[in-house]
Amino acid sequence: MSPDSCRPLWVETSAGALRRNYARLQHASPHPVLAVVKANAYGHGAAGCAPVLAASGAGWLGVTDVCEGIQIRRSLGILPQTVQPRILVMCGVWPGDEAECLQHQLTPVVWETVHLDLLNAEAARRGMPPQSLPVHLEIDTGMARQGVAPGEPLAAFLQHLAAATHLRLEGVLTHFASAESVDDPQTLQQSASFLAAMRQVRDAGQHPTFVHAGNTSGVDAGLDPWLTSAANFVGATPITRAGLALYGHALPLTGSAQPHLRLAHLEPALTWKTRISSLRTVPAGATVGYNATFVAPHTMRLALLPVGYADGFRRSLSATNAHSGADVLIRGQRAALVGRVSMDLSVADVTHVPAASLGDEVVLLGQQGSERISPEHHAALAHTSVYEVLCGIGARVPRFMVD
Ligand SMILES: *Cc1c(COP(=O)(O)O)cnc(C)c1O
Repeated sequence: MSPDSCRPLWVETSAGALRRNYARLQHASPHPVLAVVKANAYGHGAAGCAPVLAASGAGWLGVTDVCEGIQIRRSLGILPQTVQPRILVMCGVWPGDEAECLQHQLTPVVWETVHLDLLNAEAARRGMPPQSLPVHLEIDTGMARQGVAPGEPLAAFLQHLAAATHLRLEGVLTHFASAESVDDPQTLQQSASFLAAMRQVRDAGQHPTFVHAGNTSGVDAGLDPWLTSAANFVGATPITRAGLALYGHALPLTGSAQPHLRLAHLEPALTWKTRISSLRTVPAGATVGYNATFVAPHTMRLALLPVGYADGFRRSLSATNAHSGADVLIRGQRAALVGRVSMDLSVADVTHVPAASLGDEVVLLGQQGSERISPEHHAALAHTSVYEVLCGIGARVPRFMVD
């Protein structure tokens, strides 16, 4: 399929930007970086991104579930066996997925005893040797989502794990709630809670190979000395997990004088493009789009764009006469949306771009000439995060890797 088949609406992901961002992360972090490619690589197209990141040196990739893991394992088929990364299934194994989890050599995060039972039974069914199936145990240090709480729940879980004789505790991990807030009291509390869990793990006679935590903001804010000490506690190798920075973004750090302490010069990897599908000139007083929320104040030339909220081009990017919405880039110039973004269509004002023609490439997110539209800008208009904007680009938008 070409970018222009069906509707001309597509995402281009730069392999070079991914490679360079991975190198920047690896430079900023003293620990190996697990590259998070969940949620279709934050909208960038996981099947294209995963082989690039693995070839850049990522020894571990992080996915959401077994289905994503299978898709990514397949995409890695183009790489030699020597650079096949490990794949961590970060949201655990859903009952019924355990056979495929093993078949595709995916490594599950575990925190419910049912995970242990399912995986142990599957390993036994396959006649695997004792302690041959690696699992990573998540500790709930204060997010109350996934994980086992330190103390009595962890003690009971470790006993259950020891009885699951085919399993081996290869990794222990946790996740921080407020890593972008430097020296946040919650981060300090979570760090202390994780160290308490490490003591329990050690006292239970377990020797995990890896201890991992963190995210982009954790790298940016310099959580690595803490991670080193947590890993040293059980004689393990520390790993940092990171996603957002791979794709060229980082949250501004708060509570610190210097934002983006270590992750400067990230390159946004994604460009979202479409083409002008129709052009018209309307007189003053013409109404544009649903509910006539925009009325042309003068004669205007309008470009129709085949993109709408069904593609993740949010309705909150719409413009009225009183409130401007998002801009797009046409012939290197910014052009403002006018009226409502609808399901499949949006309209941009090209009155000031007389050369704008049918079929012209339009950039919705990313760079064109010297202008750039950032997902942070969309996030501000939509009152959401850059994460949600990137992941929100719809499944019906095809993704292509470019250099
Ligand atoms: C998504 C995720 C990450 C990566 O977070 P970023 O802020 O994108 O770097 C790390 N760890 C876990 C458990 C995650 O779910």
